[in-house]
Amino acid sequence: MRVRFAPSPTGFLHVGGGRTALYNWLLARHAGGTFILRIEDTDAARSTQEYYEAIVEDLRWLGLDWDEGPEVGGPQGPYFQSERGGSYGPAIEKLLAEGTAYHCFCSKEELDERRQQAPKEGRDWRYDRRCLDLQDEERERLLSEGAQASIRFRVPDGKTVVDDLILGKVEFDNSELDDLVIARTDGRPTYNFVVVVDDLEMGVTHVVRGSDHLSNTPKQVLISQALGGTPPKYGHLPLVLAQDGKVLSKRRGAVAIGEYRKSGYLPEALVNYLSLLGWSYDGVQEIFALDELVEKFEIGKVGGKPAAFDPDKLLWMNEQWIKGLPLGDRTDRVLPFLVSEGLVGAGVAGEEREHLEKIVETIGDRLKTLSDITDQAGFFLASDVIYDSMSVKKVLAKPGADETLAGLQRILEEAPDFEPETLQRLIRAHAEERGISLGKLVQPVRVAVTGRTASPGIFETLSLLGREKTLARIEEARGLTGA
Ligand code: GLU
Repeated sequence: MRVRFAPSPTGFLHVGGGRTALYNWLLARHAGGTFILRIEDTDAARSTQEYYEAIVEDLRWLGLDWDEGPEVGGPQGPYFQSERGGSYGPAIEKLLAEGTAYHCFCSKEELDERRQQAPKEGRDWRYDRRCLDLQDEERERLLSEGAQASIRFRVPDGKTVVDDLILGKVEFDNSELDDLVIARTDGRPTYNFVVVVDDLEMGVTHVVRGSDHLSNTPKQVLISQALGGTPPKYGHLPLVLAQDGKVLSKRRGAVAIGEYRKSGYLPEALVNYLSLLGWSYDGVQEIFALDELVEKFEIGKVGGKPAAFDPDKLLWMNEQWIKGLPLGDRTDRVLPFLVSEGLVGAGVAGEEREHLEKIVETIGDRLKTLSDITDQAGFFLASDVIYDSMSVKKVLAKPGADETLAGLQRILEEAPDFEPETLQRLIRAHAEERGISLGKLVQPVRVAVTGRTASPGIFETLSLLGREKTLARIEEARGLTGA
C-alpha cells in the first residue's frame, strides 16, 4: 500500500486538511504501507515557502511522519510538483501520439462566446470538440505557424464507475465531462493531469481526500487509463461542517492547526478529535492515542455523512488529555507558555524547576489549554499581583476585611514554618477563636495574594508563595480595603 497526502502550499493546514492527512497516515500505518508527502505547488502565484514550512511543521507536530517526501527524500522524488516537469512533458506527448489528447486552438474569447451562446440555445456548455475535428494538415499548418494551442484530453464515450472506499459505487456518465485542458497554451500542465502522472509514477495505490475532489475523480481515472496505468483506489471523505450545518470556513470557526498549537492544544487531543470527524470505533469510546488509532482505524468504517466540527468538544478533549499528562511532562509542556509571557526564564532547572512543578501540581486539573497556565499560575510567578476590581469590591472593600487581614498577618509572621498543614492548623484555630467560618476568613487573604476570588487550595497557595511574598501582598491588599 502506498498512500499520499498532497497539500497545496497556498494556505495553512486547517482542520479539514489535518483530518485528510491523519486518515491517510492511519491508513498507511494500519496496513504497514508507505506514507508519502507530496507538495502540489504548481500554482506558483499562490504557493509560498512560508505555507510549505508551516504545513510541514504542523504535520510533524501532529506526529504524522512521512516515509517519502520533502526533507526525507525517497525513490520517487522529487516530491514537489514544481520540480517534476520532466515527467509531465513525455506523458502529454504519449497521449498526443496515441490520439487521446489533441491540440486546441480556440482562443479564450472564442470559447467565451460559445459558452455564452449555449444556454441561449438550451444547451449546457461543454467544449464542442471543434479542434478535435481539424484535418491533420490544418493542424500541422497552425502549429508550424506558431499558433497558440492548449492540449485537451479526449474523454472517451461510456461511463466511469468509481468504487469508492467510503461512498461505495459512484457512476459518472462520461458525456457529462468536458474534454479538459491538460496543458495550457504556455505549456504548463494542469492540476488534474499532474496529479495523475504523479500518482502513477509514485505507485500510489490509495487516494483519500476530501469529497470536494469527487468531481475530479472520473477525469483522473480516465487519464490514468489513457496513460496505460491502473488508477489508485479512491476514498472521498465527508465534508467537515460548522455547527450551523454550513461548510466549515474560517468565518465558521475553522482554525488553522498551527493556531491550536499556539493556543495550547495538545497534538494528542487534536489528533484524537480529528480522528472522530467521520470515523468511529464502536460509537462509544472517545479517547484514543495515536498508536491506538493505528491499531483500530479502518477506512471502511469512515461514514459518508458530513461531520460537524465542535470546538467545545475539542476543548473538552484537550482538557482530558492535559489531565492525563504526568506532572513532569505537563510542566514541560506549559513551560513555553510561561517563558513567552516572561513569567519564567528559559532553561529553568534545579530548585526553580521543582518549585514550578509544585505550582503545576497545585493548579491541578484547572487547565483546559496549556496556555491557561499563564492565567492560573501568573500570580505565583509574577512579582506583582493584578487585583481584579470586582474581587476587590466584593471582598476587600467589605467591612471587617482589614481586621481579618491584620489578624492573619500576625499569625503568618509567627508561623513556625510555611507548610500547608501548619498553615491550615493555625488558620483554622484562628477562625474558631474569632467565631467565624474558615471560608469567610480565607476569602480576603485569597484575594490579597492571588488578586481574585478563585484559586487553588489556599493553604497550598500560601505555602508555595512563601512567607515573604504572602506577607508583602497582604500588606499591599490592606491598602485596598478602604480601612
Ligand atoms: N492538492 C490538493 C489539495 O490540496 C489535493 C489533491 C489530491 O489529494 O488529490 O486540495
